[in-house]
Amino acid sequence: MNPQLQILVALQDMEGMIKEVETQGEELEGMGFTHGGIENLKSARDDLAAKVDPRHMSWYRRLTEKFGHAVVPVVNNLCTGCFANIPAQFVSKTNASRVQKCESCGRILYWP
Ligand SMILES: [Zn+2]
Repeated sequence: MNPQLQILVALQDMEGMIKEVETQGEELEGMGFTHGGIENLKSARDDLAAKVDPRHMSWYRRLTEKFGHAVVPVVNNLCTGCFANIPAQFVSKTNASRVQKCESCGRILYWP
């Protein structure tokens, strides 16, 4: 996988965790999840974000705002964001390790 893409996938996972902790904070604290844990998570997130090409980052931010999820897996040649068919020739082009987006919805695609 493209290293930039790998970072974006990890970043999205991490931001999902942070969001979860922030919305269910009290509940998680009861489970032993401390405030310090959240801060650690956020600084790890910032470290990751710093490694992303700014061009990809602004793209990622815009998509996250619009859809909630910016990076989606392709399953059975379908974009799991909008369920558009991803043509086979597009798939092989992607193996040239580039960050690709769905031509239909614009989400960043990865092949799990
Ligand atoms: Zn799509």
